[in-house]
Amino acid sequence: MSYDTQPKASHFIDGAYVEDTSGTPIPVIYPATGKQIALVHAATPAIIDQALAAAHRAQKQWAAMSGTERGRILRRAADIMRERNHDLSVLETHDTGKPYQETIAVDATSGADAFEYFGGLAGSLTGEHIQLGENWVYTRREPLGVCVGIGAWNYPTQIACWKGAPALACGNSMVFKPSEMTPLCALKVAEILYEAGLPAGIYNVVQGLGEVGASLVTDPRVAKVSLTGSVPTGKKVYAAAAAQMKHVTMELGGKSPLVIFDDADLENAVGGAILGNFYSSGQVCSNGTRVFVQRGIKEAFLKRLTERLSTAVIGDPLDEATNFGPMVSEKQMNIVLDYIKKGEKEGARLVTGGKRLDRDGFYLQPTVFADVTDDMIIAREEIFGPVMAVLDFDTEEEAITRANATEFGLSAGVFTRDLSRAHRVIAQLEAGSCFINSYNDAPVEAPFGGTKMSGVGRENSKAAINHYSELKSVFVRMGDVEAPF
Ligand code: NDP
Repeated sequence: MSYDTQPKASHFIDGAYVEDTSGTPIPVIYPATGKQIALVHAATPAIIDQALAAAHRAQKQWAAMSGTERGRILRRAADIMRERNHDLSVLETHDTGKPYQETIAVDATSGADAFEYFGGLAGSLTGEHIQLGENWVYTRREPLGVCVGIGAWNYPTQIACWKGAPALACGNSMVFKPSEMTPLCALKVAEILYEAGLPAGIYNVVQGLGEVGASLVTDPRVAKVSLTGSVPTGKKVYAAAAAQMKHVTMELGGKSPLVIFDDADLENAVGGAILGNFYSSGQVCSNGTRVFVQRGIKEAFLKRLTERLSTAVIGDPLDEATNFGPMVSEKQMNIVLDYIKKGEKEGARLVTGGKRLDRDGFYLQPTVFADVTDDMIIAREEIFGPVMAVLDFDTEEEAITRANATEFGLSAGVFTRDLSRAHRVIAQLEAGSCFINSYNDAPVEAPFGGTKMSGVGRENSKAAINHYSELKSVFVRMGDVEAPF
């Protein structure tokens, strides 16, 4: 599965690759080996200006096309992404370290789903007609203008598409800044969009760290900012956008509860907990990292969980048999190791894992702590790694209260065979994206996003259209104007 990981240039602006080596060098490290596989340069102020100018210039013409024409281009991009799924998945694996077994199933395919779905919707973005006697009001759904997308490092292809697809469908242009940790995939998304017929300037990619993101957010040409990242970054970006009353979508972190009742199907509950904690080596924002297990099923749950975790195939992410890869970076691995130490120090019981693997790359063992209490740091803070905290509970009421006792509100899950209870509990959990007898499904048709500190706005589904367009109302008087003087 060899692949040329070095992109043609660092940035993609106005329909072409652009380089400016005077920007700060950003080495791209393959997490499975710790070796450098590519080098890009952060955008200089001139590059940032070039990208924003292109997006600003091109947007009005794009918006003037019919939705069907715009949608056709997005749907063509979806087809190309699916045809190139293998290559894109290998690249995603190099960018993030996630196993090819995952990337071939989830990353470019979910990006393609977004282009297909929003491409399909683009022709149906209509306003309303409101009759008021002989007068009437009509509404127009108008694009916002230039949108900025800022991505996290865990799903670089998916994030580039989840932000780009609805933005472009609504007639906006976009400047996207990937995380500096995973700069490669978004460039391919831009390349494919142009191959599909996107006019130059409509989707641009610039590289850089937080400061590049910050200068994009504060530029007066930008109408909207969509960030996927941590809560601290979200607060900064939201505040900067608010200073100019810009629209925002904030997809931030979580510490989501997964509540397992003792009548749950044990295998499915264990499967859900594995998906919600160890997929992508636990680097998923919506993970159910606080696993509340009703006391009656606790020991059986832990036993089966440990058995199934011992069958994880940890190794070379490009080997199709591997289903558990490294952390994205040495820094992230050390953050997670530090949390593991804190868990041990606070008296949680280490059931399995807890160590770095003795091999190249940034590998950690899948780790489970039991007997975790609500006040422990590992039960309160987002770890963003393969560390599950198992907490015991007795009653439904108790589980709901404790599950909600967090500043976050991204996701929540319930496993039970009692469907009335499932709906009753889910209705009371404070979270945006919820699951019953399942975990972490994110189809493009379903709204995705958080409440409380986990975010503002929704990605995917028809709901995303509201976050990438504005509603203009037009009152039309058919008779004379009656003025008081
Ligand atoms: P960060 O918050 O560190 O960074 C997110 C992005 O924001 C990066 O591209 C970063 O650039 C950029 N950035 C940092 N500072 C600023 C600033 N002041 N202005 C503008 N942009 C800035 O998150 P991570 O990349 O570490 O990703 C992990 C986090 O993302 C976790 O908290 C996770 O929960 C969350 N996440 C949320 C998801 C959701 O949909 N709700 C999905 C995936 C992840 P750079 O990194 O290059 O410095």
